[in-house]
Amino acid sequence: MKETRGKIFGVAGPTVMVKGMTGPVMNTVCLVGKQGLLGEIIRIKGELVTLQVYEDTSGISVGEEVISYGIPLSVTLGPGLLTGIFDGIQRPLEKIRAAAGGFITRGIKFEALDIDRKWEFTPLKEKGDYVGPGDILGTVQETERIVHKIMVPPGLSGTITEMKSGEVSGAEYVCMLEKGKFIGLFQEWPVRKPRPFSAKLPPSTPFITGQRVFDTLLPVAEGGTAIVPGGFGTGKTVVEQTIAKFSRSDIVIYVGCGERGNEMSEILSDFPALKDPTSGLPLSLRTVIVVNTSNMPVAAREASIFTGITIAEYFRDMGYSVAMLADSISRWAEALREISSRLEEMPGEEGFPPYLATQLGIFYERSGKVRCLGSDARTGSVTVISAVSPPGGDFSEPVTQASLRFAGSLWALDPDLAYRRHFPAVNWLASFSLYQAELNDWFGENVAEDMVKLRGRLYSLLQRQTELRDIIQIIGVEALQESDRLTLEAANLATEAFLKQSAFSEVDAFNTYEKQYWILKAIFAFMECAEAALKRGVYIETILENPVRGRINRMKDFANEGFQARAEEMMRDIENEFTMLEEK
Ligand code: ADP
Ligand code: MG
Repeated sequence: MKETRGKIFGVAGPTVMVKGMTGPVMNTVCLVGKQGLLGEIIRIKGELVTLQVYEDTSGISVGEEVISYGIPLSVTLGPGLLTGIFDGIQRPLEKIRAAAGGFITRGIKFEALDIDRKWEFTPLKEKGDYVGPGDILGTVQETERIVHKIMVPPGLSGTITEMKSGEVSGAEYVCMLEKGKFIGLFQEWPVRKPRPFSAKLPPSTPFITGQRVFDTLLPVAEGGTAIVPGGFGTGKTVVEQTIAKFSRSDIVIYVGCGERGNEMSEILSDFPALKDPTSGLPLSLRTVIVVNTSNMPVAAREASIFTGITIAEYFRDMGYSVAMLADSISRWAEALREISSRLEEMPGEEGFPPYLATQLGIFYERSGKVRCLGSDARTGSVTVISAVSPPGGDFSEPVTQASLRFAGSLWALDPDLAYRRHFPAVNWLASFSLYQAELNDWFGENVAEDMVKLRGRLYSLLQRQTELRDIIQIIGVEALQESDRLTLEAANLATEAFLKQSAFSEVDAFNTYEKQYWILKAIFAFMECAEAALKRGVYIETILENPVRGRINRMKDFANEGFQARAEEMMRDIENEFTMLEEK
């Protein structure tokens, strides 16, 4: 595609109108005005071309020149992504900040990845081998934690005529194919185009968050999608960050999308210091952060989730399980709305453009578990977990509703629970997981034979709790039958001991499935013993005064290691205590 030029005809906020271009192409980038700001063509109407500009447009004047090279908005993929912190169009924030002294100066150009940095490349293929898209040419130890696989980019194939080994930089090639085609450490990929794979696989394994209410009650599958809607202060950011820190994924892509700057600066300062509890290595070694805070240009915010998911897909293609976290998708939708209103498009509900849901779908559909491209058999996944911030906590608004269409799991956060400091403030009865049935086999094989049954019992118990609470409202707790009172107490114990979980407790923030299962076992062991004692004629007061409840509640504070042994010991204690209770 050849270069084409036009002249600025009008400016409206983040959008710029251009006339005089020949053969402009949708979704390709332009350099705008004297400062050479980056923009993307988002509408072509006759000779009038509209761009969204990824930088502050104040100071651009009518008549300045716009140049298009016909290249789509792309990201650079390769070693050096991990530990990186980028803006919505993959500009390295640290470098920009260092150069500009605190704020982003417009028109600053930086390579996303350091092209001169040398990497130790270990080849896995040799001269004479025939390779095709997705084949792994070799590896680079990108961080202490992650091996970066250098793959043949989609669309390229041939016989290797030369293969390098040892120190290579992004500016050199690692591999030469016949007819002079070469492959380097870096590849470019257009952010709006999903990266190809061999086949989509059904969700069959859970994405392990370490949070009991999610993993046991409302699981999301690896390659699935979960949305976390909740009003202000209900704990969305804490959920996202806890998952970023503790989830059992190989790679985390964290997209801070339009939230307040101070919240993001917490992440930026916290993250590099955080250590993985199991390996003791810094978490940043497996993390890429993309940030566009509320004070940064809206068009770059619109692009940020696509930049994020493209990077996520790239690591998926290596065969990794990737968590893509977005906080919050509502701010992304607001960016879309602002750009749409500048285009004077016909607004839909609450001013959002009618294509809001379509765009959201394009994003969410890039999640998934796949058999990767290439002859070296491997599977990878992208699990998307995004926060939604409905104004006033009202879930009937368009962004929550549109997100619900694509959500496999809904983790609805509730202001009443947050107010009572019940965290994570998940309203378990208003939430759902569509993956449950598909994951049952995995639970049976990998956790325990009766895990699915226990989960069902927990769910029924919590439903009964709601009914009983309603009844109490009317008749008072004294009028409740003794067996119902016991059920209510057991349900309250499950709420306290199981559903509540502190994100800030070192021992409790991440629970293995073993721990989750044995806490449940203990709760139901208590319930059964208590019911049996009641039938035997023990006073309900005697049962409830029994200190075992407190002990079950403190099981959270046991470490994951050796949990089963401690839990079994405790269950023996429970049985002993109950057999000793005196009958009336
Ligand atoms: P939101 O992003 O929904 O506005 P935050 O995630 O910032 O809300 O949470 C608000 C506050 O709630 C946090 O600062 C913290 O004190 C508390 N909180 C939220 N989740 C938890 C949790 N899992 N454990 C302990 N405290 C929590
Ligand atoms: Mg928040």
